Amino acid sequence: MQRILDQDEVARLLSWEELLLAMEKALQEFSTGRVVQPVRTLLSLNGAGWFGVMPCAYREAIGAKLVTVFPENAGRDVPTHQAVILLFSPDTGEPLCVMDGALITARRTAAVSALATRELSRPDSEVLAILGSGVQARTHFHALGMVRQFKEVRVWSRTAANAERFAAEIRARVMPIEKAVRDADVVVTVTNAAQPIVDGNWLKPGVHINAVGSVGPVARELDDTALRSAVVVVESRPAAERESAEIVQSGVRIYAELGEILAGLKPKPLGGNTLYKSLGIAVEDVAAAYLVYRKAAGSLQPPAERGSDPA
Ligand code: NDP
Repeated sequence: MQRILDQDEVARLLSWEELLLAMEKALQEFSTGRVVQPVRTLLSLNGAGWFGVMPCAYREAIGAKLVTVFPENAGRDVPTHQAVILLFSPDTGEPLCVMDGALITARRTAAVSALATRELSRPDSEVLAILGSGVQARTHFHALGMVRQFKEVRVWSRTAANAERFAAEIRARVMPIEKAVRDADVVVTVTNAAQPIVDGNWLKPGVHINAVGSVGPVARELDDTALRSAVVVVESRPAAERESAEIVQSGVRIYAELGEILAGLKPKPLGGNTLYKSLGIAVEDVAAAYLVYRKAAGSLQPPAERGSDPA
């Protein structure tokens, strides 16, 4: 058994289809009380960024992700988000594996947004607006395309050249932010914005939003109008109540955890706007890592070679 898996190896072993299934199962386990998982510990690094410690344990695995976020790395060769994931045996407690966690972070976040989009957006959604052009923008484009047939994809990003590059890559249209959001059926926010960039008055009635970028007690991408217009779904109530400035400051009520909807414990909201507020929780990382570990250990087949994976 290879005990250390680098990013290339993780990429070779992690298939999107299996990842979506693993995230669906993991969120159901979490929302039915079968995962031991505290809200993560976030250490602020004097303005340079933060260091997160994200442990969890459930019947399949014990593990933790250690993650750093250094926003000033943007534009350099070093990514803004870097991580490792450690796995231990739930039977004996022995360490099983250490693997790169950056690619898992990029893909599991998008996979969970795809599940939210599948459950919450209108099935006939045709127009997707992606706000942001970084790592998460790319994985979200890929993952959301697995659950909806978009006829038009719009891109906005703060830096015009980055928007142009991303849009050319995915054959999308660059637009000013308001134009991109108006009439979009699904909106994805994947930026490091500190202040709201989306005005709720721009939203099309019946829109589904995946709000992914604003993690922590201060950062926001959506204004209060956007938040209050929608039925709100999160991964974890305790995490959202502690880590989402958007939820805390707007005072919106959380309708459900995504795992409750996936497990059939809460009905899908019918009609109206829906909002999935993503923060990222440990069980997503550990379940994704466990999937990779089983592939590496030979207890699952590696995915067939694929063409152009985004991350
Ligand atoms: P990248 O560094 O790859 O991309 C950052 C993006 O944010 C770029 O498109 C950049 O635009 C944009 N941006 C930066 N500052 C601002 C600003 N002040 N206003 C508007 N846009 C801005 O990061 P990732 O793609 O990896 O992550 C994107 C966001 O998602 C981050 O906030 C991150 O913390 C969050 N995240 C959330 C996860 C979750 O589980 N919910 C998991 C991982 C990340 P440009 O380049 O055009 O300037």
